[in-house]
Amino acid sequence: MRYSQTFVPTLKETPAEADVVSHRLMLRAGYIRKLTAGVYTYLPFGLAAIRKVERIVREEMNRAGAQELLMPMVQPADLWRETGRYEKYGPELLRFKDRHDRESCLGPTHEEVITDLVRGEVRSYRQLPLNLYQIQSKFRDEIRPRFGLMRGREFIMKDAYSFDVDDEQASVSYQKMYAAYQRIFTRCGLQFRAVEADSGSIGGSFSHEFMVLAKTGEDTLVVCKSCDYAANVEKAAINALSVENQDPMLDLEKVETPGKRKVTAVCDFLGIGADKLVKTLVYKVTGGDGQPVAVLVRGDREVQEVKLKNLLGAADLELAEDKEVFDITGVPTGYLGPIGLTIKVVADHEVAAMRNFVVGAGEKNYHLRHVNMGRDFEVAAIADLRQIADDDPCPHCGGKLGQIEGIEVGHIFKLGTVYSAAMRAVFQDQDGQEKPMIMGCYGIGVSRIVAAAIEQNHDENGIIFPVAIAPSQVIILNLGLKDAVITEAAELLYTQLQAQGVEVLLDDRDERPGAKFKDADLLGIPFRVTVGARLGKEGVVEIRHRRDGLTVELVPDQVALYLLNQIAVAGSAVQER
Ligand code: ATP
Ligand code: MG
Repeated sequence: MRYSQTFVPTLKETPAEADVVSHRLMLRAGYIRKLTAGVYTYLPFGLAAIRKVERIVREEMNRAGAQELLMPMVQPADLWRETGRYEKYGPELLRFKDRHDRESCLGPTHEEVITDLVRGEVRSYRQLPLNLYQIQSKFRDEIRPRFGLMRGREFIMKDAYSFDVDDEQASVSYQKMYAAYQRIFTRCGLQFRAVEADSGSIGGSFSHEFMVLAKTGEDTLVVCKSCDYAANVEKAAINALSVENQDPMLDLEKVETPGKRKVTAVCDFLGIGADKLVKTLVYKVTGGDGQPVAVLVRGDREVQEVKLKNLLGAADLELAEDKEVFDITGVPTGYLGPIGLTIKVVADHEVAAMRNFVVGAGEKNYHLRHVNMGRDFEVAAIADLRQIADDDPCPHCGGKLGQIEGIEVGHIFKLGTVYSAAMRAVFQDQDGQEKPMIMGCYGIGVSRIVAAAIEQNHDENGIIFPVAIAPSQVIILNLGLKDAVITEAAELLYTQLQAQGVEVLLDDRDERPGAKFKDADLLGIPFRVTVGARLGKEGVVEIRHRRDGLTVELVPDQVALYLLNQIAVAGSAVQER
């Protein structure tokens, strides 16, 4: 490619609307342009990087035995009604009617469509296992599209779906995908971690997320410093205390706490630590039984809403505001407690192990002391409901935990029969018995990977693409357009490298050297070959590695071999990691 004829509209100024580095750099490097909120055009070089990722994804999916197909983006609402998701999915699902008034939606994911296909074609265990995937644009009407390709409304995803005869085989399929994902992200040159995850609105029983480690991550991961436990904070498990609390129960006591509504104010007033108080929080619930619920957690803890949502089988939750709490319970906020509450109460299991704690008295300006669960009140459920804290031990080995930020680039789920049962995707097993297929689904955010790679690989001058996903491997700068010797050498190198299968961009623009150096850095192309005045004087060209700034000088004849070696080294290094 010749730069003079390539559409790479780089920007000198930093675009104001972009607040994360990958978004800024992709705009500045001329890789993407915004059409409307969360919807982008992928320009030639942006698309080239995306295609590189797609190719790696394809190769590894095929290697793992999955087969590529392409499903429609427009989907009939009735199919989604079969699983109840037309109602349940929420406003991220873009619903519309066609000219015949038929309700439809734009695919945010394809479980319904693939299950419909497979139930129509697969009859016997002999046709299983099956793993089918596609790489396609998805549409999700995200409430807060942001960070460019990181959270778009339209974005490119690889989604795969496996169908198996039994749970054991489904686990084999899951493991194959787990391994394929490890290879994919490794080959993309990313530093990542697989973590235990919540299975979210897709449902199912088991899942892992693949997280690229980067400061701009929207996700927080909990990782053990001693063993290999890692989980999304939404999921990070906290074990119940194994030793029963033997403290004697003291007599219940009502104390006046005038105007003390906040945990700290009550605790200061009573001269106790927040770990001796239990908060009562009221949530409004959508889905599940739709009834408001009161949640009990220790005074210094936070409710983990995803855990609560899962316990209640709710679609959504919202903490009730003061006025709503009063409407629901008749108690002013700050004085709420579990005793005498008429709505459902659930408790974090840490509370179950507490003795003689403080709660609101259910009456303005009063709290209760020496409260004990079981003796003074009952709850509908005791579960792990709180957010993990810094001092919590690892649920696997008891070691120390730490928290890091990450960007979710892939997500694998064991679905079980959630979809196949609802949609009657059944097969005849060896004994002639009809059984629902056991499913799994596996997503990769292809366009998000490019953004995540930039978050992880950049400096103040621009992008530093991993070689495997760079839009071009090499850029040649011709710094002497009017100098016959320089131009001839640059052109010759350009043809030689191309002949060897190297991807090259030749900067043949009539620009100052400074501008060419700047753009080469901004674009993030791994190897830069500068052909300039030193060719005439010393007979050498300069090769510079974008990542570490390493430079070597070579006579033009040695350049192709050197670069081929470097590209191979970069490839094998990530294969081995
Ligand atoms: P998130 O929690 O980030 O919203 P999700 O759980 O909704 O993700 P999945 O339904 O598992 O995501 O989708 C599979 C993959 O698609 C994700 O791992 C992510 O990499 C990518 N992805 C999801 N939503 C978006 C989006 N709005 N923009 C870009 N990529 C996305
Ligand atoms: Mg989402």
